[in-house]
Amino acid sequence: MSTLPEAKLYIDGVICRASGDKTYDVIGPWTGEPVGKAADASEADVDAAIVAARTAFDTTDWSTNHQLRFDLVKKMYELLLEDKERVSTLARVEAGAAIGAVSRAHLDMAVACYKDMLDLFPQVKWEKDYGRKGPEGYKSDRKVVYEAVGVVGAITPWNVPLYVNVGKVVSALLAGCTVILKPAPNTPGMGAIFGEWAEKAGFPKGVLNVVFGQDPALAGERLVNDPRVDLISFTGSTGVGKRIMEQGAKTLKRVFLELGGKSAKIVLDDAPNFAMDIASSMLIFHAGQGCAVQSRLLVPKSRYAEAVAILTKAYAGFGENWGEFDNPGHMMGPVISQRQMERVKSYIDLGIEEGATLIAGGKLRPDKGGGFFVEPTAFADVTNEMRIAREEIFGPVLVVIPFEDDDDAVRIANDSDYGLSGGVVSADVDRAVNVAKRIRTGSVSINNGMCIAGDLPFGGYKASGIGREWGVEGIEEFLESKVIAVGVPA
Ligand code: NAD
Repeated sequence: MSTLPEAKLYIDGVICRASGDKTYDVIGPWTGEPVGKAADASEADVDAAIVAARTAFDTTDWSTNHQLRFDLVKKMYELLLEDKERVSTLARVEAGAAIGAVSRAHLDMAVACYKDMLDLFPQVKWEKDYGRKGPEGYKSDRKVVYEAVGVVGAITPWNVPLYVNVGKVVSALLAGCTVILKPAPNTPGMGAIFGEWAEKAGFPKGVLNVVFGQDPALAGERLVNDPRVDLISFTGSTGVGKRIMEQGAKTLKRVFLELGGKSAKIVLDDAPNFAMDIASSMLIFHAGQGCAVQSRLLVPKSRYAEAVAILTKAYAGFGENWGEFDNPGHMMGPVISQRQMERVKSYIDLGIEEGATLIAGGKLRPDKGGGFFVEPTAFADVTNEMRIAREEIFGPVLVVIPFEDDDDAVRIANDSDYGLSGGVVSADVDRAVNVAKRIRTGSVSINNGMCIAGDLPFGGYKASGIGREWGVEGIEEFLESKVIAVGVPA
């Protein structure tokens, strides 16, 4: 497995080491061993990034020069295309992505979504005419202009780091904001590479900055508490999201939150290919570490035994087709860290204690290479009251829950603190759409339709977040509106 180059910070247009040359070891999930070193940013480094971003926003034409922004963000896209090989290695080595997962969300989807953002930039409205209005003698010509909100702190997780970093950095830069990107401690390289691209592309100094460190909270909290940062765009756990909202309140920070999920896939009794629809619900992709994965499988009570038998056979057939670093057919590798592995295992133990029936997996597998491997796992006889059905596990653990009819399926799907995504499978698309409309989540896939794309807004209801990322809506999250009214002489 390759050793990665040292991940460096990018502050005020300079690729640099942390003050005092402090570094930390980046631990690779495949082996549990160090795979590289990363700069360990101090509070002073974060402050320097804030000053750089503030100065760039306040003293340059970045926020008003739409063409300059577009050209540079496009140049960064071209550099990403040239660096696909490096990015793929980062996704595999740092984030533990299997090769089969790299060609999806980790790289190809992120690249496609970046392209979508460039394509939709001309659709962003920067001005809207509201016409002439007012009593006779006091009429005004009114318009609303849309302006960049200012300095953005973009705090991102480790699970699909390129995709999330692109979603925030590209949208905020296109909107005219200046940005401080703060990737997770586990995936600093996927942040540092944005600094390299910005430098190569010739970004004005301070427009994009990248800081990270070993302490998961230090840099992020500094950004959240600093009055010079106007908006925090955060993707991560619901617990940290709540803390950010609370702490951000002191400076009335704009906060945008993309949080956790416990999404339900509802397979209705008329599903066109029931066996295939059930078997394809195995929670394998990237070891279940996706915010929008469908980790609750809801099946009709009348076909529950049949579904459980199909799933048991599917997992048995899947066998050992996972967990090899160099296998292009594998979609699943390790989970990110020792801590995450222990957390997932504790949920598996909890499921057994709660009375659910383990129908696949359940064990840790250090024999796969010494890293953080958890078997693809599924539980039957689960009720929606169990904690394994209610809490986000963020691992390869599927729960199978029976429902009576469409109303009951909707009730169970909605009986969740979360509201990120979900799916419905049916031979009758109208019936499926009716069910989908009643599910309180930010997206619903019908018959395996793809809800995630760079030109579609993505986000959650309830504890899954506030606001939308991607699409024109995603750029608008980084804009303020200003009314301008010009008095008309009587
Ligand atoms: P996390 O909340 O632990 O960390 C996310 C980021 O926040 C990291 O950069 C971390 O260093 C930083 N952070 C931690 N404590 C902080 C604090 N007190 N103040 C400011 N920043 C802080 O999440 P994670 O473990 O990296 O990622 C997994 C979570 O992310 C899951 O809950 C998953 O559902 C969620 N996620 C959501 C989406 C979405 O679009 N809704 C996408 C990907 C991941």
